[in-house]
This record gives sequence, C-alpha cells and structure tokens, in this order.
Amino acid sequence: MSQINNTKCPACGQGGLILVRLLEFDSKICVLCRECEAIWEGTFPSPVQPIIRFETYAASHGFEADWHRIEELI
Ligand SMILES: [Zn+2]
Repeated sequence: MSQINNTKCPACGQGGLILVRLLEFDSKICVLCRECEAIWEGTFPSPVQPIIRFETYAASHGFEADWHRIEELI
C-alpha cells in the first residue's frame, strides 16, 4: 500500500497525488499531483520543499513534461 493514498496535496489541498516513475529522467521516483501538477522527488510530498510544477521541473532537468512518459506506480 502506498503511504500517499490518504495524503492531500500540499500545493492545492486536493487528493490527486500519485506515485510515478519518470521514464524520461533515469526512471526517477516522484510524487506528482494530478490536479495541480506539482511534483516532489521521492515517495512523499515534502511540506518544506517549494512547490515545483512538473513542467518547470522537467525543463530544469532537460526533458519534456510528457504525461505519456510517466509510469504510474499506484
Ligand atoms: Zn496538487
């Protein structure tokens, strides 16, 4: 069972968090919010990390923010 199932997104307050693997970025494990597209590295949305959108995150790491290149783990 995932620990993010009952966790609300710290960015938008909704329950759209999913655990994903970024196929475009070394298959890195991240938590992504379906509602507001905020992203956190690792398996839990850090409440202290500044909110970063998937598109910004992808651009800053040199890959495209393509939702089809994400593997959903839960
Ligand atoms: Zn959100």
